Amino acid sequence: MSGYDLIIVGGGLAGNAAAITILQTAPQARVLVLERGSYPRHKVCGEFVSPEGMAALEKLLGAQASLLASQAPPITHANIRVDGRVLSAPVRPPAASITRFDLDFALWQQAKKLGAECREKCPVLKVQGSGPFEIHAEQEQISARALINAAGRWSIFTQSRIKTSSSVNDSKWIGLKSHFTETASSGTIDLYLFDGGYCGVQPVAHDRVNACAMVRANAAVTLSDVCALHPELQERSRGWMPLMEAITTSPLYFCNPLPVENNIFNTGDAAGFIDPFVGDGMTLALHSGMLAGEALTPFLSRQCNLAGAAESYTYEYKTRLLPAFRRARWIRKMITLPVGLRAPLAHLIRITGTTETLLKATRIAG
Ligand SMILES: Cc1cc2nc3c(=O)[nH]c(=O)nc-3n(C[C@H](O)[C@H](O)[C@H](O)COP(=O)(O)OP(=O)(O)OC[C@H]3O[C@@H](n4cnc5c(N)ncnc54)[C@H](O)[C@@H]3O)c2cc1C
Repeated sequence: MSGYDLIIVGGGLAGNAAAITILQTAPQARVLVLERGSYPRHKVCGEFVSPEGMAALEKLLGAQASLLASQAPPITHANIRVDGRVLSAPVRPPAASITRFDLDFALWQQAKKLGAECREKCPVLKVQGSGPFEIHAEQEQISARALINAAGRWSIFTQSRIKTSSSVNDSKWIGLKSHFTETASSGTIDLYLFDGGYCGVQPVAHDRVNACAMVRANAAVTLSDVCALHPELQERSRGWMPLMEAITTSPLYFCNPLPVENNIFNTGDAAGFIDPFVGDGMTLALHSGMLAGEALTPFLSRQCNLAGAAESYTYEYKTRLLPAFRRARWIRKMITLPVGLRAPLAHLIRITGTTETLLKATRIAG
């Protein structure tokens, strides 16, 4: 049996952010990242990186963050297209658009460069203990003083918790994404709302858009179905040519965030999944990974015990990240209203000029 200071299960945004943060201040730490999949890879995501997400990426990737963001026009404007109305607002400061294909790979490479041992195609099957931990991978059993769960929304860590929550059965939401050709795309994100979900479209390069939807499975199962649910989206998508095979993800469910469980640090979607409408999931993943890394650094250098580090992470998570979940819940209620209520609300937001305030309310403090 081999031993590490820290094992991170899941080499996505949160996992790599945690590894990088720790190794930036404690380069001698023995950090192992275990990733089920392999890189580079696409991921269901609108690829809208909020300004707070960009700030986190600059800390993690340095100059490479701006280089990645320069591949697409900055997102300076948002249009919410609902029931024949358009709610428009500037995005201030501008957001960025970075493909997950490039972003996740860049973070993975950075974690490696700083000294993390990063293993691909290495699914974790079981975890035992509450510190130290024993991690069962396919071929071996590995021990670690600390453990970060960065395995995303649906994993060996979360399945039992979620199955007992009714939300997963009630909602049956799915996520769909693809990239399409579109010339002359501007720096705008368009959110098309319809009964049964919504679809975001934004440029991810100068001649390529991302179309990403969150829909009820009984409303649509393909992106063509999605486009047919909104007349303006259907019109816009007529000339699109797919640039990748469409990908899907499910189940999507929402439950109360849980930053620590049995001294395991939950980060990113593994701690809590926020409605994609607010475009903050990546930012939360990066920030929670960084917060977990900061809280664990003194433990790794034996300046505090694991329970103390867990307490500090819980405090930071609740203070800095939890408010975003509350606001997202409120916004989800608004966008899933039946059309009879949604239309007058959209009208009210438009005539009172509160679209920008509404969009700003979705941002985390950073
Ligand atoms: C439809 C949709 C649209 C979205 N749009 C946006 C958007 O525009 N902007 C935004 O900010 N956010 C968006 N999000 C949210 C964002 O994609 C997530 O919040 C983000 O990916 C979370 O990152 P993570 O690192 O926590 O998890 P993930 O990115 O899911 O990474 C988890 C990793 O863990 C690995 N893993 C899982 N189980 C195991 C195991 N047992 N062993 C080893 N590895 C394992 C997985 O392979 C994966 O690589 C969207 C989400 C959806 C569903």
